[in-house]
Amino acid sequence: MEELERLNREVRSCRLCRLASTRKLAVPGEGPEHARIMLIGEAPGYHEDQQGRPFVGAAGQFLESLLARIGLTRRDVFICNVIKCRPPENRAPMPDELELCRPYLIRQLGLVKPEVVITLGRYSMELVFKGSSISKIHGTTRTIDGVTYIPMFHPAAALHQPRYRSLIEADFDRVPDILQELDRRNASPPPPEPAPPEQLSFF
Ligand code: SF4
Repeated sequence: MEELERLNREVRSCRLCRLASTRKLAVPGEGPEHARIMLIGEAPGYHEDQQGRPFVGAAGQFLESLLARIGLTRRDVFICNVIKCRPPENRAPMPDELELCRPYLIRQLGLVKPEVVITLGRYSMELVFKGSSISKIHGTTRTIDGVTYIPMFHPAAALHQPRYRSLIEADFDRVPDILQELDRRNASPPPPEPAPPEQLSFF
């Protein structure tokens, strides 16, 4: 936890990019130190910037309802964003801002060590599924270095365009099956060591 708190302090005082001069509060992220699931959104919005916490506005309420569908609360998961400070007027993050902020997210992944990472929206999807279309790959899984990534639409998309609501709900509803499958794999005994080559004997 000490390492995560140190990282949070660094983020709160970070002035690496221009967003430091327009934010009210940086939003490092929050959740249990070794959460099984990490949710990565895009960037803080108005309410997040005011409170210094991720997903506390309307999209956050919807996210909590999605978690409740699968028996979880926000206290069970680690929630953060690709960009830790609010871009003015919620504009899209710029490439240099993404570049400068990315090391914080990489450190969070290394410290929390989640088994499952749910990317919410295009910018976090791009971390793993570069060049993909979220409309085509949402809800699918890809395992890299033992971490299972699931791209999903951003909850705010469902608020603005109701047709996305049922899609993101269906994707969330698959998460328990994915966790069960991971449990099953973790519980199954490792494959037996290959038998040593038979010793040739002359007697
Ligand atoms: S967005 Fe990231 S890199 Fe830019 S000031 Fe905030 S914490 Fe630092």
